[in-house]
Amino acid sequence: MGNRQFGFPCFLCLKLSQEMLIDTHSHIYTEDFSDDIAEVIQRAYENEVRKIVLPNIDSSTVKKLLDLSEQYPQICYPLMGLHPTSVNEDYEEELELVEFWLQKQKFYGIGEIGIDLYWDKTFVNEQTDAFRRQIRMAIKYDLPIVIHFRESFNEVMAVLQEEKVPGLRGVFHSFSGTIEQAQQVIDLGFKLGVNGVVTFKNSGMDKVIEKVDPSHIILETDAPYLTPVPFRGKRNESSYLIYVARKVAELHGISVQELARRSSQNAESLFQI
Ligand SMILES: [Zn+2]
Repeated sequence: MGNRQFGFPCFLCLKLSQEMLIDTHSHIYTEDFSDDIAEVIQRAYENEVRKIVLPNIDSSTVKKLLDLSEQYPQICYPLMGLHPTSVNEDYEEELELVEFWLQKQKFYGIGEIGIDLYWDKTFVNEQTDAFRRQIRMAIKYDLPIVIHFRESFNEVMAVLQEEKVPGLRGVFHSFSGTIEQAQQVIDLGFKLGVNGVVTFKNSGMDKVIEKVDPSHIILETDAPYLTPVPFRGKRNESSYLIYVARKVAELHGISVQELARRSSQNAESLFQI
């Protein structure tokens, strides 16, 4: 019944409290889940994950994203955006498509967007421009932004400082920075997206997250990536969010119910879900 040696509540305890969890960043619409998506959704639901926010990647993923969102409208909340690792010479066309979809139907945010200097720096200028223009779309459509900032915290922050207007809001997804960077995010009025990395030994994120008030935290899996302990190395899925919630609750010395309640409130108010 779960890990009790540290006095953690079990799954059942969370059920009894009727607190739900929200996975604010999940790519369960991709091929990794095409064989068993119904079971994945079922397991998420059984583990109190009642809402799942789905960030887009690029034009090749829109159909799958929208199909899943239509199939599970009470659970899945789609975002629209162009991921920085999908930015290349065709990015203008991709951005036109993002705007086309924003005009066409309801989305709950712009994401995921940002700058990634880890995989490839070839298109750094294009990535920066795509990020800037999608921030402007978020302002135009009054939507939150979901930021990917792999090895690009300062670059992302510089664009945000130039583009920010009152009302601009969002999350630094998969937050992996220092306590000083966490403070900069908080000062900007943005949330920190915390995932399975906080459960990894030697990630150092426990030392940062324990100093961040839960009012600034939302939870995410980034499925199929970043699988929390004890499933590290396997495919991640939304039901594993409970392991992230437990770890964050433990770091703050509060019950998992309390952490679930607070982080879910943050997520609901950010995405209006
Ligand atoms: Zn993602």
